[in-house]
Amino acid sequence: MEMLHRANFGLVLRLAIAGAAAMLGAQQPAPDLILSNGKIITVDERFAIAQAVAIQGDRIIGVGSNQEMAQLAGTNTQRIDLKGRAVIPGLIDNHMHLLRAATTWLQELRFDGVESRKLAIKMLRARAQSVGPGQWVYNVGGWAHQQFVDDPKPFTREELDRIAPDNPVALQESYYQVFLNSRALEALGIEANVPDPQGFVPGSILRDARGRPTGVIRGDIPATRAVATRLPKVAPEQLEASSRALVQDMNRAGLTTVGVPGCNADVLEIFQKWKAQGQINVRIFCIDGIVAGTPEQVDQALLQIPRIKLFQGDSSMDNIFFGESVYGPLHDPMFALKSAPKPDQLHEWRRVAMEIAKAGLPLHVHAELHDTIDAFLDQIEAVNQEHPIKSLRWTLAHVNQISAPQIERMKKLGMYAAVHPWAEINGAILHEEFGDGAYDMPPLATIQNSGIQWGLGTDGTAANQYLPFTTLYFAVTGKMVGGAKVNRQSIGREDALIAHTRKNAYLVFQENNLGSIQPGKLADLLVLDRDYLTVPADQIRNIRPVITMVGGRIVYDAGVAAPTATGPWHPSPIRGNIF
Ligand SMILES: [Zn+2]
Repeated sequence: MEMLHRANFGLVLRLAIAGAAAMLGAQQPAPDLILSNGKIITVDERFAIAQAVAIQGDRIIGVGSNQEMAQLAGTNTQRIDLKGRAVIPGLIDNHMHLLRAATTWLQELRFDGVESRKLAIKMLRARAQSVGPGQWVYNVGGWAHQQFVDDPKPFTREELDRIAPDNPVALQESYYQVFLNSRALEALGIEANVPDPQGFVPGSILRDARGRPTGVIRGDIPATRAVATRLPKVAPEQLEASSRALVQDMNRAGLTTVGVPGCNADVLEIFQKWKAQGQINVRIFCIDGIVAGTPEQVDQALLQIPRIKLFQGDSSMDNIFFGESVYGPLHDPMFALKSAPKPDQLHEWRRVAMEIAKAGLPLHVHAELHDTIDAFLDQIEAVNQEHPIKSLRWTLAHVNQISAPQIERMKKLGMYAAVHPWAEINGAILHEEFGDGAYDMPPLATIQNSGIQWGLGTDGTAANQYLPFTTLYFAVTGKMVGGAKVNRQSIGREDALIAHTRKNAYLVFQENNLGSIQPGKLADLLVLDRDYLTVPADQIRNIRPVITMVGGRIVYDAGVAAPTATGPWHPSPIRGNIF
C-alpha cells in the first residue's frame, strides 16, 4: 500500500501542475478548513485531479494545488493533512428505501457485504446472546447465501435451532426466500399438517413429505413480505436511535445523499427535527406518490395528483418525484422471467401517467422486465403527445432487463435511467433462473455507451445490499458480493464513479449543489483509506472512508472508536490530522 501511495503522489503533482486552480471570487472570506496534500478526484466535467480543497461554511470555495489553497488561508483556517489520500465527492444512491429501513435497523442483524458464512454464524450467536432468550434475531434482506465464499449454502431450520435455540430467527435473502428456525415458525403460527396461517402466499411455506414446515418461505416480494410484516419493528421511543444508527452506517459506508422511495411519515419527522438543529448527516430526496390498485382508486388518485406540490424543500431534504409506482398491478416482481401487462391495466397506468404529466410532475417509476418497459414506453410516448415530458426528468428505475432499442426510445423522450444492480447479491439466483441472459442484467455497458443520462443506486436495504463501494466494485468487475463473476457488462472506474456521484446529483435535482468537488458546490466528500482509481479492482469493495463530510461538517471519522448501532453517537469533531 505504501508503494502505491508514493506512486500516486507523483501523479498528483504532475496533474496538479497541468490544471489551474478553480476558486470563487477574491471577496470570499477566508476558508474555515483546507484539506491539502491529497489526491482530490473532483469528478468535474474534465475529471480533474487536484491536491487541495478549501471549504467555507457548508460550501467548497476553492480547488487547486497546495500552494494555491494555502494562499486563501486566514488566521482561523483549520487544516487537515490528507497525507496523500484520495478524496472523492460524497456518494449518492438514487434509490434506497432508507426511511423504511429505520423502522427495523436497530433490530436487524445485517449481512451486507459479509462474505463468510462462518462469520455470519458468529454474528448470529453473538446477537442471540446480546438480545437474550425469546427475542427475535432477524434481518430483512440485503444478502444471499451465494455471497459466502467459505460455504455458500442456505441455512436449515435445524442449523438455526442449534445456533440460536432460545430465539426466533428469520433471515431474509433479498426478496427471494426467508430462513426460519423452530421458534420463529412457532411464533408465526406455522405448524405441521395444519393449514397455513392467514396472510401467507399459498404454496410459499415449504413443507417436507410429512407436512412438516422446512423453515423456508419462498416466493418473491409478497411471500417474503408476509414474514417481514410480522416481525417486531423498533419501539416508537427507539425510532430516533434506530434512524441515527442507520444514518451513521450510511456515512461510514460513504453515502451522503439518498433518493428515498416512500418517505415514512414517522421517520421523516425525525429528519425534520434534525434539519431544524442543523444536523442532517444524509440528505434525503423523497420519491412519493399515491398508490392506486384498482380503477376506482385511480379515479381518486386523479383528483389528488393536481394538488401534489414538489420542490418545497432545500438541498438537505425535499420531495422531488412522483413514484415509485403508477398502477399497483403493473409493479414487476423481482424474480419473474417475463411479464404480460394487460391492456386494461395499461389503460389505468396511462390515466395516472397522463395526470402526472399534466400536473408537470417528475416521475420515477419501478420498471424491471423487458415487456413491462416496452409497455410503459408505449404509454409514455402517448402521454408525451399531449403533455410533453421533456423537461420533467421522467425516470425508469431498476431496468435490469432493458434493451438497447428501449434506451433509444427513452433518449428520444428525454428520459433517464436509475440503475440498481440487484445482481450484486442475486447474481447467482438470476443465473439459475435466466441462464446466460443474466450476464446482461443490468446491461451496464450498453447503458453507459448509449449516452443516456443514468445513475447507480441499490434499491436497498431489502432487495439489495446498500454499500456503495460494493456497487462500484460490481460495476467495474461484474462480480457479486463474494466474488463470483455474474455480469459481462462492466464499465470503467471513472464512468462508474461519475454514475454514483455527478450523474446521480442530476437524478435528484441537485446538480448545482452536489456530485462533484467544485467551487460553489456543497462540501460533501469522502477521504478514502485507499485510492479508488488505482487500487486493484477486486479491492474496490473494501474501500472505506476515513472521513465522511456533509456540508463541511465531519459526520464520520474512522479515527474515533468504531461506532456501534446502540452506542452513543455524536458527529465526530475534527481530530487527528490537524497541524
Ligand atoms: Zn422498485
